[in-house]
Amino acid sequence: MEQSDQAWVIVERGAFVFAQCRACGWLSHARRAYASAHKEGAKHLEECAGAVSADPTGQPS
Ligand SMILES: [Zn+2]
Repeated sequence: MEQSDQAWVIVERGAFVFAQCRACGWLSHARRAYASAHKEGAKHLEECAGAVSADPTGQPS
């Protein structure tokens, strides 16, 4: 069992695989190839950037 510290994981659903972000819950498109889902996950990471606790609520104070 591999347990990595990745910010996203690979989810298998039937014949398809998805990359899912553990930070924001984002799910990639359905891919047939593990490698493609991997790419999607890596790409999302760049866009997800902070993910953690960035609360984009513009509250006027
Ligand atoms: Zn994300």
